Amino acid sequence: MAEKRSTKEMLQALQSQGVQDWVVLIVDDDPDNLELACFILTWQQATVHTALDGQEGLELLQKIKPNLILLDLSMPNLDGWAMIEQIRNMPHTAQTPVIALTAHAMETDRYRAENAGFDGYITKPFRISGFVGGIYDCVSRTMSAGV
Ligand SMILES: [Mg+2]
Repeated sequence: MAEKRSTKEMLQALQSQGVQDWVVLIVDDDPDNLELACFILTWQQATVHTALDGQEGLELLQKIKPNLILLDLSMPNLDGWAMIEQIRNMPHTAQTPVIALTAHAMETDRYRAENAGFDGYITKPFRISGFVGGIYDCVSRTMSAGV
């Protein structure tokens, strides 16, 4: 179990890993969630792209190559489960870290998300500390795995 870090420490650690140069795609049908996630990452000086459903997200992925994707599971048109499948099947995004954003706090969903190819999991509604912590965990793991 990792030691508990403050939000400030995690933000500093993200900065030292160059997150300010990152391109992040956030896909969520809830505009409030998009806005909060976008605000936090823009504040970290990342370049942020947003999409309101999986279809729109996939279209964006034809034009941008994000370092990190935050993906809501429940969405109209194409949901997060269908989108992660396509993300993993496209050569240019197969290795991209993807964090699931979900209101489902069930342990079975967490397990299912790992099996579907997600690299991390953030439960909504997120508070800043949980959101930053989820990204920090995923980025730390990705970095230590040398991706
Ligand atoms: Mg949703």
